[in-house]
Order: sequence, then C-alpha cells, then structure tokens
Amino acid sequence: MFTIGCHLSASKGFVAMGRDALSIKANTFQFFTRNPRGSKAKALDLDDIAQFLALREENHFGPLLAHAPYTLNGCGKEERVRQFALETIKDDLERLRYIPHCYYNFHPGSHVGQGTENGIEQIAQLLNQVLREDQPTTVLLETMAGKGTEVGRTFEELAAIIERVTLSDLVGVCLDSCHIHDGGYDIIHHLDNVLAEFDRIIGLNKLKAIHLNDSMNPLGAHKDRHAKIGQGHIGLEALANLINHPLLRDLPFFLETPNEDLAGYGEEIALLKSLRKES
Ligand code: FE
Ligand code: FE
Ligand code: ZN
Repeated sequence: MFTIGCHLSASKGFVAMGRDALSIKANTFQFFTRNPRGSKAKALDLDDIAQFLALREENHFGPLLAHAPYTLNGCGKEERVRQFALETIKDDLERLRYIPHCYYNFHPGSHVGQGTENGIEQIAQLLNQVLREDQPTTVLLETMAGKGTEVGRTFEELAAIIERVTLSDLVGVCLDSCHIHDGGYDIIHHLDNVLAEFDRIIGLNKLKAIHLNDSMNPLGAHKDRHAKIGQGHIGLEALANLINHPLLRDLPFFLETPNEDLAGYGEEIALLKSLRKES
C-alpha cells in the first residue's frame, strides 16, 4: 500500500483532519500536537477522537505522525529551556496514548554553542526521562539540515543519541528528504549509497517515516527551505525514486511542502500516485 498524506492543521480536531485527508485522497496525515510555537495544548476531545478512529479504520489509514512544536530545544543552554522541552514532550506522549498507531516526531535540537557531544548527551537524557516502557508511541528523531547548531544532521549524531537511550526500542527516525539533501546526503544520484550508510550507522529497522519535500537549495546548503514536489533542487525524478525504492516504499510519506491550501497538496498526492510503480 502507498501510504501518503500531508501536514494538516489540527485546529478543528481529528475528524476534520481525517475528512481533509480523504478529500485529497490521502490515507494518513501529520499534525502539530499543539501550537507549533509551543504554547499550552487544548484539552483532548475524546468524542472527536473516537469518531476519528472509526473513520480511520473504515478508510484503512496508515500510521499517523504527530509533530512536536519546532521551537522546543532539548539541548538548549539554559536548564529552563531543556525543562520546557522535557515537560512538553512528556505531556504530548501522555496525550498520544489516546491515538494508537501514531508516531511522534521531534527535532533533536540546537546545541547553541555547547558542542555537538553535549547536545547529543542532553537529548538522550531527555528521552531517558520521558520514555515509559508501556507507552504505545514510538518517538522519532527527525534528520536535520544542519542549519546553525542543529544536532541530528548526520546519521552518526542520530545513532549516538539512540545508543544512549535505555528504552531505545521506542526510538526511531523520520527522514526528511529536504533536510538530508541540504545536510549533504546526495539522494539525487546516490540514493542506494545513502540508504546503505543509514543502515550501517543507524539501521534501516529504525526508519519509520519519510517527510517528502523538495528543496529550494542545492545539495549541502544547510538551509532547510522546503519546495513543492518537483519544483526544487531535488526534482521529480529523484523524489519518484524515493517513493518507489524497495527499502522505502512501505513507509508512510508526509508532504510538508509550501502549499497555500489543501488543493495544492491534493495535486501533489495525485502526481506522486501517478509516479508510483507496482511493487
Ligand atoms: Fe520537522
Ligand atoms: Fe520535516
Ligand atoms: Zn524543514
């Protein structure tokens, strides 16, 4: 099955997101767990969730992806900043107990001059404090573009975080095509090599989801500016190879492309479906 969806606004609830997804022929979606700038989360609407779970079952959705606010910094310099990240993630994971088959993706953080090693250590410590053996949710570290002092640009950095986590079975990776391209991994000409490297360093069993984005910038630019599918430096052919690659094709794909409206995502999904090959 081709599992594809896009980032949707969570403001109207889960049923609304489910319907939005169906309206563009998506069979999954990504949503922010709360305001992306990281304010307090709204109370859970359990009726809305129950209705959504039925709708999702009926329509054979693939796994969903919850995205933590991108302003969290688990390796900030100040204790207060790290503590805020910890509490937010902890609270998100409690709330996600109500949404089965949903991964939780977060940006590892920026070490802001403390050094990558310290950043890795702090992120691993955060995970060791929030992960619970009985949680249903697998937490995903997102591959980063390496702008500023971002941790998680290289597969080595992500592997180093995971290695330090006690409950590491609850940790995986979400690969963002724009970010790794901007981070210097040549998925245009050497996708096989990049995946072999991922496997050697992290293990492909850890790869759980793909953020499918084109990039406004060339390979290794460390910028993180997403482009629409086929309209950036990665290009349509390379993105088509990505969705058809035997090692990736069964993963869920999530668009985070700069579309003003749902229709724009719908067009991209139709395009990608037309490029999807039979296995
Ligand atoms: Fe992200
Ligand atoms: Fe992303
Ligand atoms: Zn990005």
